[in-house]
Amino acid sequence: GELRICLDSSCRASGSEKVYESLKTAVHQTRARAVVKSVSCSGMSYLTPLVEVVLPDGTSFRYGNVEPQDAKAIVLRHFKPRRIGGHTASAVSNLLDRVLTDENREPVTRYSVNVRDHAVSEYLGRQVHIATEHCGCIDPTDLDEYLANGGFQSLQKSLCELDPQGVIDQIERSGLRGRGGAGFPTHRKWATVRAQDAEKKYVVCNGDEGDPGAFMDRMLMESYPYRVLEGMAVAARCIGAKEGYLYIRAEYPLAIKRIGEAIEKCVERGYLGDGILGSDFSLHLKIVAGAGAFVCGEETALIASIEGRRGMPKLRPPYPAIKGLWSSPTLINNVETYAAVPWILRNGAEAYASIGTDGSKGTKVFALAGKVARGGLIEVPMGISIRQVVDEIGGGVAGGLNLKAVQVGGPSGGCVPADLDHLPVDYESLTGAGAMMGSGGLVVLDETDCMVDIARYFLEFTQNQSCGKCTFCRIGTRRMLDILDRLCTGHGRAGDLDELEHLAEMVQKGSLCGLGKTAPNPVLSTLKYFHKEYEAHIQKRC
Ligand code: SF4
Repeated sequence: GELRICLDSSCRASGSEKVYESLKTAVHQTRARAVVKSVSCSGMSYLTPLVEVVLPDGTSFRYGNVEPQDAKAIVLRHFKPRRIGGHTASAVSNLLDRVLTDENREPVTRYSVNVRDHAVSEYLGRQVHIATEHCGCIDPTDLDEYLANGGFQSLQKSLCELDPQGVIDQIERSGLRGRGGAGFPTHRKWATVRAQDAEKKYVVCNGDEGDPGAFMDRMLMESYPYRVLEGMAVAARCIGAKEGYLYIRAEYPLAIKRIGEAIEKCVERGYLGDGILGSDFSLHLKIVAGAGAFVCGEETALIASIEGRRGMPKLRPPYPAIKGLWSSPTLINNVETYAAVPWILRNGAEAYASIGTDGSKGTKVFALAGKVARGGLIEVPMGISIRQVVDEIGGGVAGGLNLKAVQVGGPSGGCVPADLDHLPVDYESLTGAGAMMGSGGLVVLDETDCMVDIARYFLEFTQNQSCGKCTFCRIGTRRMLDILDRLCTGHGRAGDLDELEHLAEMVQKGSLCGLGKTAPNPVLSTLKYFHKEYEAHIQKRC
């Protein structure tokens, strides 16, 4: 049998490393026929440290919020001990009695459920796992296990069965759009870089996720490093790149470690490096650790940063697809976009396109956070409604309070009010409501949250992260923040709201890059849907 536990960052933050060690000690002491296995993130952050026991007949049991002292009881509950070290005979008898006999007693852990448990079924039942395929099951660092589950079949296919144009056709038919935020059709980017006649081309993975509350790319890189690398390799082969970079923020040390080790193993085994899988295709990948500037997620700033310059955006065109890294054509896609590619080529474009809506195909990974009962990393089909995400997956608002709004898309996004919770999660619907998909942060807000405070929080973030190159973003957001500071401290003045709206429009129109252009979104969406709260601040009623 297996005792599965995730050792990714969010689980480590809840103490899963200690539980992992305790499980290993318990297995060693009892000589139970079980292995303790580190697995990819199950996405159930609300239950971590989460231990899944999988018996040889395939039956499984999950234990949530496990503490190190629960480890031995869990092992003994499911596996017959062959020895119990460090215990007297009576202690062993007491322990076994506690865990094996009376089902009506207090559970050995504060939360213990069978996989058929209603809440877990609800949490997982609505999800479709593509970028997060095999979540909670396979060891992220084990290349053989990745291969045994279809890993690198897509790369093989792109080398043997499909020519580069055939791959682009598949991506086009799948309807995949960039998961970094703007939703640009992926095949068009790939085709543009492929069409360039250049000696050198580059493939780049944007892993500079910096939105407050977002951890999708982090978990994908930590849990599925080989999948991200395979997606990049397929793309590189398709566009004619032999070199590439993964730009990962330095605050993600585990992601950097896992991707780095995965690159080494892939080179050793012939999935990266020279003559990949016996072909004439070569790809050399390197990691660049970003220093944590949010603006470096913008493509031209990211390129400047890789080149060793200060990460500041440049006016486009020329677009990186034509003139990017060291002036060569460069394909930049987000982590999640690359992670979807192997599934698409393995299962067919039509299978992917059958999920989602007309304009937004496939799935989207979200970091579900805030005032929700069950938060975590989720992957949902496009077109699911906000209410379904909050209620059916998230279990509703925590503490039985009412939903007030959902903040979608981080600092570039906006707040969708509760009365629009029927909106489908797709690019067009969210943009139409004044929010945007962004990279995938989804923060649930309840009736006790002040929407002016929320707007101030996000604007303060973007104001701090402005690179200062253009006046509207540098000064305009500062003036907006001054007004929000006044409102939140009870010093609002007549005319503040008009000025705030005017400044927001100017910043949107006059900023050079996406950071400035979208910075006013949280303010404008809250002004639109929660104007009365702003008025109440001016009138000092709250
Ligand atoms: Fe820099 Fe802001 Fe201008 Fe973007 S919009 S280039 S972040 S000052």
